[in-house]
Amino acid sequence: MVEAVYRSHGETVNGTSESEWNRVLDHLKGEVGETAFRSWLRPISVQQVDGGQAVIAAPTRFLRDRVTRLSIVVGTTAAPMPALPAADEADGARRSLAEPSAALDTPEDKAQLSGPLDPRFTFANFVVGKPNELAHAAARRVAEACADSVHAVPFNPLFLYGGVGLGKTHLMHAIAWHVRQRACERKVIYLSAEKFMYQFIRALRFKSTMDFKEQFRSVDLLMIDDVQFISGKDSTQEEFFHTFNALVDQNRQIVIAADKSPSDLEGLEERMRSRLGWGLVADLHPTTYELRLGILHSKAEQAGIRIPQKVMEFLAHKITSNVRELEGALNRIAAHTQLVGRDITLESAQEVLHDLLRSNMRRVTIDEIQRRVAEHYNLRLTEMASDRRARVVARPRQVAMYLAKQLTTASLPQIGQKFGKRDHTTVMHAVRKIEELMLTDAGLAEDVELLRRMLQS
Ligand code: ADP
Ligand code: MG
Repeated sequence: MVEAVYRSHGETVNGTSESEWNRVLDHLKGEVGETAFRSWLRPISVQQVDGGQAVIAAPTRFLRDRVTRLSIVVGTTAAPMPALPAADEADGARRSLAEPSAALDTPEDKAQLSGPLDPRFTFANFVVGKPNELAHAAARRVAEACADSVHAVPFNPLFLYGGVGLGKTHLMHAIAWHVRQRACERKVIYLSAEKFMYQFIRALRFKSTMDFKEQFRSVDLLMIDDVQFISGKDSTQEEFFHTFNALVDQNRQIVIAADKSPSDLEGLEERMRSRLGWGLVADLHPTTYELRLGILHSKAEQAGIRIPQKVMEFLAHKITSNVRELEGALNRIAAHTQLVGRDITLESAQEVLHDLLRSNMRRVTIDEIQRRVAEHYNLRLTEMASDRRARVVARPRQVAMYLAKQLTTASLPQIGQKFGKRDHTTVMHAVRKIEELMLTDAGLAEDVELLRRMLQS
């Protein structure tokens, strides 16, 4: 733990500031809940308060990165506390983690049109796999275009789409970082569609639409995130369309991200829709097991936490919804490891993550399980509920019960009910039996694994 030095303008922070900090903490506790508070916020301390800004210290770099991402804006202090730039204790250098995300307060504040960039969303931190290779390659191509001749635009627009948490924003930030690092003379603006609308509406109010137009039309690379939110708002859509066209006509690069493809975006004017699909449309597919495992390895390494391979595999199998949830799981495990002081095990992971695991369970029904199992063993579906005890029928039935226990949230009596009104002890026996057999009978274990995979995909 870095020793917190309570100083402000060279003086010891007075009681007011400390108690203010405590109020901030109280407020945050209410906001994020006791558990998250204990894992994430309690370990940090305030180091320095300077005007409206506080410097906080975190015990590890990992925790620091997590906490700064929260963009804490708290209304309990008279002057709002902005999200804090972090001092890196390793090299002592202070680097700004993100540009101020605060809304522009006057029309003169033009310089900060671009939204904040997450420092971790770089190409180096992006794990490439089958589901995202096209989107990644396209994003790289756009980012690297600045090294080529002036305004080399590979495709316009680049339209990235895919479900939530699959890496669209990450790729856009990576493009922006890359262009910045290369320090090429390109003006880059990244912002969300919501912010675009907000800016536009504000410009209308301040009667500065000319300025607004000019700012956008003088960029070399415009990236607008979450464009699905722009649909339906007529005047902003109109403005967006004009901006878009003006930029494309001047051969400036545009990158768009949305949760749906151009043709599936609702509430969008036809001409806009078709224009959006003119360039390259690259979708990010749901993650595969391999990609999830790769991402876990990469993130654990970055965070400097040790997680047994078994637990990694378990997570990659279970947390299938999106990468954000996968990261959430990893964070919790990291916090747990830190607090408890020993490596996580499969059992403790299950405990720590039980709510996440539950919500990630694909809703498999018992009916579906019975149908699949019957098909697999060439049985009639009715055998799942029949009284026949011959092994060729009884064993598959036990497999189905086992899977029902594993893959659904149904209780033993509920499962028994579905299998010809059997008693819950029969179900329990079946579950144990299959577990036992799987240890010794490789063929059966394979069958069960195959069925499980089919049902969960
Ligand atoms: P989206 O914008 O598509 O909803 P984000 O770009 O915000 O998703 O990604 C959600 C989280 O998952 C981010 O923390 C991001 O860094 C991470 N992430 C997504 N895909 C990858 C990947 N391929 N490699 C590493 N991290 C990823
Ligand atoms: Mg996003």
